[in-house]
Amino acid sequence: MIKFNDPLVENKLIENEIKEAINKVVDSGWYILGNEVEQFEEEFADYCNTMYCVGVGNGLEALHLILRAYDIGEGDEVIIPANTYIATALAVSYAGAKPVLVEPDDRTYNINPELIEEKITKNTKAIMPVHLYGQPADMDPINEIAKEYNLKVITDAAQAHGARYKDQKVGSLAAAAGFSFYPTKNLGALGDGGAITTDDKELAEKVRTLRNYGSQKKYYNKYKGFNSRLDEMQAAILRIKLKYLDKWNSERQKNASLYLDGLDNEDIVLPFVPEWAEPVWHLFIVRTEKRDELQNYLEENDVQTQIHYPVPIHEQEAYKDLGVDYNELSITEKLSERILSLPMFIGLKRYKIKEVNSNIKYYFSKSEV
Ligand SMILES: *Cc1c(COP(=O)(O)O)cnc(C)c1O
Repeated sequence: MIKFNDPLVENKLIENEIKEAINKVVDSGWYILGNEVEQFEEEFADYCNTMYCVGVGNGLEALHLILRAYDIGEGDEVIIPANTYIATALAVSYAGAKPVLVEPDDRTYNINPELIEEKITKNTKAIMPVHLYGQPADMDPINEIAKEYNLKVITDAAQAHGARYKDQKVGSLAAAAGFSFYPTKNLGALGDGGAITTDDKELAEKVRTLRNYGSQKKYYNKYKGFNSRLDEMQAAILRIKLKYLDKWNSERQKNASLYLDGLDNEDIVLPFVPEWAEPVWHLFIVRTEKRDELQNYLEENDVQTQIHYPVPIHEQEAYKDLGVDYNELSITEKLSERILSLPMFIGLKRYKIKEVNSNIKYYFSKSEV
């Protein structure tokens, strides 16, 4: 069996270090907002090349708190990609604003900057690009549009820890970025976790306050805040795992190369990497008109795959109220029918990737007969 993902393999590699870190927290007697969180925030800000980092409960909360801190809410609109995980849209909804969906570029699968301007109204307050699958979004044109219309740019970096756009690290490409440390992300905790990175001092202070009941001084509340804190245990684990992030991202890069070199087949569209992008391959996505058939064939041959994502946001029951016309987001709809994510995780063996490739090649040679 070739698994799609297996965080246990990665965590076993550094099991002793993780257990030591956990023990240290257990013995400290201090479990929320202490030294580990502070140290992690400093180290992750350093890693992303930003002035500030604020640890929060999860990736969804990271995005939500940024929006809140910028006073984006009721009556406001936020432009997001139509092709993304539901959390991007939910963060906007949580804040009370309306997500406005923009189609992806057909090659990068990230938001198409050329289609943003037509969606801007007098209510638009922010653009929230996603660095989907670990590929940085095309930030320069997005930042330019934002400047022209006086909009905030908030990036969803939940799938792209360490990716670079024109040599600059994701996390430092806009006003603020939201990260997730869900266990299977490139930097994953052993539970939930998230963070905000920014150079905006005021924003950093406000989300720091919002994550802890809106309080700066115990029992004095400046805002109607939230409880969304990264805990000491997860911070201690993340500090260990951050040391391995670059190494593990290059392992993902090697896995991606094996797929890219092994899958030259006209029936399959491989990921496109623009010259300004240094992706970190959170996911490896291929595209084919025979997606369901290929997925079934691989399943029968013990290769697990997944689809990111099978139902676009505007077709979700939860978002019936968006009022998107049928076919208005046809690129997104078509993608959801054709994309397939191949196995990608730390510890995935080279020979297994080659086995996946052979299976795919065999499937297409057979189905052509
Ligand atoms: C994982 C993810 C999130 C949400 O992160 P959680 O920690 O699960 O809340 C947001 N956006 C994208 C693109 C993600 O992949």
